[in-house]
Amino acid sequence: MHNALESRLPEHAESTIELAIQHANAGGLPFAALIINSQGEVIGEGVNQVAQQLDCTAHAEVQAIRNASRNTRRVALHGATLIASGEPCALCFMAIHMAGIKNVICLSNRHDAADHGFDYRWTYRHINTSLLNALNIVMLGVDRKLWPFQVARQQSLTSKKPAAPKARRSG
Ligand SMILES: [Zn+2]
Repeated sequence: MHNALESRLPEHAESTIELAIQHANAGGLPFAALIINSQGEVIGEGVNQVAQQLDCTAHAEVQAIRNASRNTRRVALHGATLIASGEPCALCFMAIHMAGIKNVICLSNRHDAADHGFDYRWTYRHINTSLLNALNIVMLGVDRKLWPFQVARQQSLTSKKPAAPKARRSG
């Protein structure tokens, strides 16, 4: 990994978690991703927009790849690093590989997500180790790694509560 990127990694990891928290706060699914070039600069970002776009492939990592490609006007993102607030699912690992990205940094893992109601572990049954071996996957510990999930759970609880009395009154 390049030094320029390495020195800015903690800052970018925090930004990724922050983006996921903000998105969860706004009612979105608690996943975000950033794409960083070898100079340590952000070239793309994305949040999970499956519900908003009615697109089952609009995961944060895929959205970040789309954003980085638009920003750089390149389909191939060789030399870039993707930081994901949650471990990428099988679809995203494949998309990352197709984009030519080798370095993947995960801030929480598949089991953290599953523990909070986001269980996509089944997707890994559809990939084999050759895909995962093609990538350099690093788990990076950050203090607030579970916050996006916790905010999302809180959001889903509070958004349901006010709706119930209203429905009773109108009925
Ligand atoms: Zn995914």
